[in-house]
Formats: sequence, structure tokens, C-alpha cells
Amino acid sequence: MSILISDAWMLPQEGFLKQKYDILVEGEYIAKIAPAGTIKCPAAKVIQGNGSLALPGFVNAHTHSAMSLLRGYGDDMPLMSWLNDRVWPLEAKMTPEDVYWGSLLSCLEMIKSGTTAFADMYFFMDSTAKAVEESGLRASLSAAIIDGETKDFQEKVELARIWQGKADGRITTMLGPHSSYTCSPARLQEVMEAADEYDLAMHIHIAETQSEIEQIEAAYGKRTVQHLENLGFFAGHHVLGAHLVWLNAAEIDILAQNGVCVAHNPQSNMKLASGIAPVPAMLQAGIKVALGTDSSCSNNSLDMLAEMKAAALLAKVGTLDATALPAAKVIEMATENGAAALDLPQVGKLEPGYKADLILLDMNKPHLAPLHDLASQVVYAANGADVKTTLVNGQVLMQDYEVLVLDEAKILSEVKKCCKNLFYR
Ligand SMILES: [Zn+2]
Repeated sequence: MSILISDAWMLPQEGFLKQKYDILVEGEYIAKIAPAGTIKCPAAKVIQGNGSLALPGFVNAHTHSAMSLLRGYGDDMPLMSWLNDRVWPLEAKMTPEDVYWGSLLSCLEMIKSGTTAFADMYFFMDSTAKAVEESGLRASLSAAIIDGETKDFQEKVELARIWQGKADGRITTMLGPHSSYTCSPARLQEVMEAADEYDLAMHIHIAETQSEIEQIEAAYGKRTVQHLENLGFFAGHHVLGAHLVWLNAAEIDILAQNGVCVAHNPQSNMKLASGIAPVPAMLQAGIKVALGTDSSCSNNSLDMLAEMKAAALLAKVGTLDATALPAAKVIEMATENGAAALDLPQVGKLEPGYKADLILLDMNKPHLAPLHDLASQVVYAANGADVKTTLVNGQVLMQDYEVLVLDEAKILSEVKKCCKNLFYR
């Protein structure tokens, strides 16, 4: 099936003037982009751009989607007491059904705010995979691996193998060793061996807090990044590392030399008072830094536009340099770099030959006028509620603010039921 998106702005890029374009989608791919009014394709379903801005869909490079069930439960607390006293006791009671509805709630929120792909780490991965399958989104899923029984570990490796490439290729998988403070060196070794054997990438939390660095140093005599390098975790593997807040110059070199992709989570890092990741220095070193929201209980939303603004502002205040992390670079982090982090080579750009994962941002709004600089409007003025149309893999998931693939009312009522059961179980 062909879809013609007509008369939409695009961000200025090499060879493109600031003008409106037509975008022709054929099947799962972008087939052609040309100045507005020049593509004729009578058979195509037409989506009027009406002066909206077409962007590649956002890639949320680190989240735990089912944790939307705990949104707003335990805010304003330090990381470890929040986990110990609030999150972990409730997670211990969650069922696969809870994880399914929590994931679906997040999928709905992502479609409505312009995220087309996400990297997820959680338990009951089957449930999240089913939600992704139904939602039409693209996702890279990892079952969280910690120390414990070998049988449980093997089941998680099996899940990664089963779901790899499913849902017309929209679902890909990674192994998800949670962190070097919840996985012993022996467990990390097993994960690396499975990654080698089945050619799987790895998604892991790294160097999130200062206390983590102290804990790893006390246990292994090395800081987190150096400890992982010493175990051979980076070399020859595709690694998606979340956070990377506490780094020295030598560690930035290690990440750059090994091609480690980083998911920067500015709002979570601010909310949990984890610190300021050295994003400009990482980008300068050539590291692919992507953006993630982390879970919606350490954020508390999955709005990538809010995350983009936070990333830009945090980099500026962190370096006391207003030129740090300009808007266009932040958009690149939320799209192209996100696709690289999820190891999706044909995703993240609006170009012929790329997957048709794209959104239309409604620019006909008071807070987005006038259009002096499109990239600035996206990062500093727009928010998730300005996304009006979302396509993934050539399928229209939302058009003119109407979600076409999920039953919004049912999801909200099922989530209410899950929460009631979860809190009183
Ligand atoms: Zn996380």
C-alpha cells in the first residue's frame, strides 16, 4: 500500500531548502521525497500535512515500559530507598497480565507522543512483546537478568532467541544484564558467552550513581566502566549502556574505542539526583549518545520531546556553556543515534530507503509560531501532545490525533483494575 504525506515541512539538511515536501511511503519504506505538489501517485492514501513538520519517529533508547503502573508512586525519594521500599516490593507481586497492560499503556503514550521505537528492559518479556506486537510499534526488548538460578537465566536467553525478528521484524531483542551491581562477574561472563553464541546485543545500566561507583570499586578495585572492560564486556559486542553519568576521561575513551552506545536519561538523572552525564564530552569523543526517558516512574512520562529539552538544558547548565548541545544535535540524538543504539540500520532518518517510521508535528499552534528555526521549535517549544500523526513500518498508528490501533478506553480501565489488584494483592 502507498501513502502520500503531502505538504509537510522537513528539517533543513544538506541539499534541502527550508520548504515543504511530499513524502511517498510504499510498503514499509520511504520511497520518495520531493518538493510539495510534485509527487503524483493517484493510488496512494493521502495524509495532508497542512504545514506540519515531518520528523523521523523518536527512539526512546532506555525504558521499562510496564513500570507505568507505578507512575507517581514514590516520588521525591533517593534511588536506593525508592527501589527498596516502593518499587521492588510491588514488582515482586506483579503478574504477566500486569506487565502486559502496563506495557500497553506505555505503547499508547508513546504513539501519542511520537515515539516509534524503544529499548525496554523488564521481566515477563513475553507480555511486553505481545503489547508491542499489537501496538504496531518497533522495540528492542531485553529480559532483565540478575544473579540467581541458571534455569531462570537460560529461559531469558531463550526469550531473546524466540522473539528476535518477530512481528514483521518490528521486535528485536538484546540480552539484559541489569547492571554490574546486580550481576556478578560470573553471571556477566555467562551473558557474554550467550551473546557470542547467539549473536545478540546487550542492554545494561552503567555508572548511574556515585554510590554505584564506590560499591563496584570496593568489590572489584575498579570503577564500573573499567570493571566491565576488564571482564571483556565491551570488545566485540554491541552494547547499549544506560546512564553513564559517572565517567572519567579514560572511561570515555574506553567507551569510544569499543563503540559502546549510550542512552542518556536526563530527567531520570535529575529526578533521582544521580548527577549530570558528560554528554558533550561523549559526543566529542565520537560516542553515539541516544536519549531515553527511563521508566515513567523516574521521569514521570515517556514524552521524548520533554526529554530532548531537558537534555539540551542540562548540558548547558552542566558545562556553563549556552552553546553546548544545540537543538539540531539533540534531535539527532533522539532519532539517528537512537536507531544506532538499538542496532536498527534502516531507521532514524527521513530518506528514501529508510523504514517509514515517521511523525507529523502540528506546527499550527500558538506556542509553535512563528517558524524562524524548525529545530529550535521542536526542542525548546514543542511537547508530546503536538504530535498528530504517527507511522511505523509504513502503518498509520495515529492519524490527526486519533489512535487507530489500540483501544484507549479499554487500556485505561484495565490499568485501573491491575493497579487496584496490585496494591491490595
Ligand atoms: Zn533503567
